[in-house]
Amino acid sequence: MNLESLFKVNISPLQDAPGETMEFHTKLSIPNLTGVGNRLIEMINPWVLELQVTSLNQRFQVSGRLTGNYELSCDRCLEKVRLPMDTELFALYYPDGDHFPPEEGLAYTGDELDLTPLLLEAINLKLPMKNVCSLDCKGLCPVCGIDLNTHTCNCQKEAFDPRLAGLLKWKEQEGGGSGGQS
Ligand SMILES: [Zn+2]
Ligand SMILES: [Zn+2]
Repeated sequence: MNLESLFKVNISPLQDAPGETMEFHTKLSIPNLTGVGNRLIEMINPWVLELQVTSLNQRFQVSGRLTGNYELSCDRCLEKVRLPMDTELFALYYPDGDHFPPEEGLAYTGDELDLTPLLLEAINLKLPMKNVCSLDCKGLCPVCGIDLNTHTCNCQKEAFDPRLAGLLKWKEQEGGGSGGQS
């Protein structure tokens, strides 16, 4: 992913200060993302990042919270839906080249922790698999494409399901076949 870094923490004040914590509370601008199925995630900026970074002897524990709003199209009618997100952050950063990297850790080099992968993963985990503007969204007419929530059209709505057609045919054959019992 070729994103600019979303947020970096300069950890020099924490180097050689095990147990010390730095706190951040900052607004963050997050670029639009592409989600599963090429869905556009449009961020409503700014988002809010709350962060605690604790020094643990060359390793750094990062925890916090990222909150914000974004827009995602309704799966049925394509109307944009505005959604809130509130996601927890947690990671252990270890120096690149550490002999015993923690299993779920993230590597850092120099005096900076790059939070980009952590933030993006946290957002991705919270994106809904399905998104509808309302449970009874009528969607778009499959024939003319009009939004059936706000308009009506005269298209033949009962689009025939080809799978059902096959099933009916099969039933017919079964019933109408050699029904001859003597
Ligand atoms: Zn909808
Ligand atoms: Zn129509």
